[in-house]
Amino acid sequence: MTLSKIWLSSPHMGGTELNYVQEAFDSNWVAPLGPNVSGFESDLENYIGQNSHVAALSSGTAAIHLGLILLGVSAGDEVICQSFTFSASANPILYQGAKPVFIDSEPDTWNLCPKALEEAINDRISKGKKPKAIIGVHLYGMPFKIDEIRTIANRYDIPLLEDSAEALGSTYKGKKCGTFGDFGVLSFNGNKIITTSGGGALVCRNKELKDRAIFFSTQSRDQAPHYQHSEIGYNYRLSNISAGIGRGQMEVLDIHIGYRRSMHAWYQDYFKNIEGVEVFSEPSADYHSNHWLTSIVMNPDKCGGKNREDLRLALEAENIESRPLWKPMHLQPIFAQAPYYGSQIAENLFVNGLCLPSGSNLTQHDQDRIASVFNIFFK
Ligand SMILES: *Cc1c(COP(=O)(O)O)cnc(C)c1O
Repeated sequence: MTLSKIWLSSPHMGGTELNYVQEAFDSNWVAPLGPNVSGFESDLENYIGQNSHVAALSSGTAAIHLGLILLGVSAGDEVICQSFTFSASANPILYQGAKPVFIDSEPDTWNLCPKALEEAINDRISKGKKPKAIIGVHLYGMPFKIDEIRTIANRYDIPLLEDSAEALGSTYKGKKCGTFGDFGVLSFNGNKIITTSGGGALVCRNKELKDRAIFFSTQSRDQAPHYQHSEIGYNYRLSNISAGIGRGQMEVLDIHIGYRRSMHAWYQDYFKNIEGVEVFSEPSADYHSNHWLTSIVMNPDKCGGKNREDLRLALEAENIESRPLWKPMHLQPIFAQAPYYGSQIAENLFVNGLCLPSGSNLTQHDQDRIASVFNIFFK
């Protein structure tokens, strides 16, 4: 008998989602608008605070795309982006015909390195082109060095797009991620901290920008009784059905973050006496991660020559999913031509790092199964 699969991160319903979906059916709001959409937006606005204005969209990728459009990024522009991330952070740069410039990570948060960022900005300016925007990412829920990055963005007057797709509920100095950038991005894809089966949101700093995002996301219709268009439109709005799932998920978000954080604490405890394994954790009390995915870095020299791929295969043999850390964008074939600033921090994380099962729905039995693989592997 094969044991059931333990996923890295799987959807975890709270129980009330179906009530909101039922309401949508009962009132026939089965469309990309309706009371769940505006309800979900105000739930998110209340949750992240800081006077945020949230536009619910069909995906986090769509939110990044509209964020770049609203920042005026167009063909030929250069956009700076963290290299160590999921490709969805960078692809919308190409949608706009703009050029990505990739930046290494620093070792504390695994996110944008302030030194490499400033070096890149100066070098691009000296080559004749000031970058049009900076995309920073809070990877695995860990806030990037917000004060340092904001200071650099302000010094050079370059807007900051905050990819908070993995960091809903994470905070920096007590404020929620998604509220520090000129725009923030959230994702509700199937494996994120909450899910609408698929969806995302753009966090805007005022109502005019939110209205503009909604305008673009609903095909850019001008004010007219007929269909008239003066600008390129997109079909990026969230459906009222998906938003209903989101409303239910918001009710359990903080509880689920609590579960993720206790999984992280459990891994920390497990590995505290194992040489050669480090659990990725907050560098100081300013940082509070939702610990969307708990990740480790292995030093093969101290693990009897065994590496993260050996561990991944050992887990897989017991039907337990784990995954290498993101492969940096500057190493991806699609971005081979893009400039890169930094050294090998992100590359080394990719070589030695592994994401472990982190879902809010893991059971004691699941933990026991994971521990028994570790017990043999690290003996
Ligand atoms: C998931 C993710 C996205 C994209 O969100 P989707 O809703 O899947 O389009 C963007 N950036 C990061 C860092 C992500 O993890």
